[in-house]
Amino acid sequence: GALLARIARMNPTLNAFLTVTETEALAAAAAADARRAAGEDGLLLGIPVAHKDIFCTAGVRTTCGSKMLERFVSPYSATVVERLAAEGMVMLGKLNMDEFAMGSSNETSYFGAVRNPWHTGMVPGGSSGGSAAAVAAGLVPAATGTDTGGSIRQPAALCGVTGIKPTYGRVSRYGMIAFASSLDQGGPLARSAEDCALLLNVMAAHDPRDSTSHPAAASDFLRGLDRPLQGLRVGVPEEFFGAGLDPEVAAAVQAGIEELARQGASVQSVRLPNNPYAVSTYYVLAPAEASSNLARFDGVRYTHRTEVPKDLTDLYQRSRYEGFGAEVRRRILVGTYVLSAGYYDAYYRKAQQVRSLIREDFRRAFAEVDVIIGPTTPTPAFPLGAKNADPVAMYLADIYTIAVNLAGIPAMSLPCGFTRGGLPIGMQLMGDYFADDLLLNVAHRYQ
Ligand code: GLN
Repeated sequence: GALLARIARMNPTLNAFLTVTETEALAAAAAADARRAAGEDGLLLGIPVAHKDIFCTAGVRTTCGSKMLERFVSPYSATVVERLAAEGMVMLGKLNMDEFAMGSSNETSYFGAVRNPWHTGMVPGGSSGGSAAAVAAGLVPAATGTDTGGSIRQPAALCGVTGIKPTYGRVSRYGMIAFASSLDQGGPLARSAEDCALLLNVMAAHDPRDSTSHPAAASDFLRGLDRPLQGLRVGVPEEFFGAGLDPEVAAAVQAGIEELARQGASVQSVRLPNNPYAVSTYYVLAPAEASSNLARFDGVRYTHRTEVPKDLTDLYQRSRYEGFGAEVRRRILVGTYVLSAGYYDAYYRKAQQVRSLIREDFRRAFAEVDVIIGPTTPTPAFPLGAKNADPVAMYLADIYTIAVNLAGIPAMSLPCGFTRGGLPIGMQLMGDYFADDLLLNVAHRYQ
């Protein structure tokens, strides 16, 4: 009740919630109370949560931040949504996001930008900007997000909250609207690593309905949270501290690494020589997969359909032109181009080869260290509108987060300080495959 009132008061400014499910939330809270009265004592029972509007929710519209799905109501719920509801979590609503998760500032949303609660003239990051802003503003204690190239970690950093992108395959993608399927991974955003671990305990599980879900995905992420850091080997990649990194961000992350050293970690430098190619590799592969995934929005199925089409081709063309925003159309054009017969070898195949090299970089580094640490973002939150005219400048906001998705390894962002102007700074922890529990452990000891 108190949170619903807070949402009603603050959301007109922040625009973090696209849908508030007040009636359903009050009913779910009453049901959770009844379960508690009957003797149940689950840690998440009755705890509020909100979902990025990319997760399908039966009976509640799922827009994916797009006009294309403005009135879309899925007949089923995503596995993540179902699992958290079964634990007794109370869904308060659906959260704003960049259109089809394509963006780094939440400004590509058809429903308008989200504002950063620390400074409402600044972006919250993206694409899970609504999730990060809602948690940062105290509208909800935890939220779900998705991360294809940084979309959990980058907004978590810019809004001063904690978020984890788990190892690829750990969290089911069933019912999570696809952007780039080989990179997409859902995960939690919350106030602390401990809260993220609590959610991940429920979110991470094998799901036969997702063919890339890992069979051994279940694990207790709370168990190892308190382990001391004595003997932890921390790697610091020089590629993450080069030109373009804001000096205040660099200083805060360095201080974070020193704190871990004080707790007994050893720090050494590592090389990720192919990291400079991550952004260009991603912007071939992600649009290629997106162009295929988004082909299903044809004006016939799902929602947006143009008025009085001349014929079937006109129906497809105009429905898609009207339903998709400029960034989504740009990605589809790039994707179909790099997949086309004449260019496939030059772009798509080449990008797949570089992806292997990036994966190899991490494999070599994790032979020497347990975690790799660097900044999550090159700068703190930037002003609304600052990068809209220049897509490449916007793409560079993910320069430190994208290699992780190409490799499929887990990574998280946690707050490590503030700029003099009062904007939060995020530190990124990266781990080897299935080292999600170690990342949460390190973050928890730091916090
Ligand atoms: N900002 C990146 C993009 O626009 C990453 C988005 C994401 O992780 N979903 O594609």
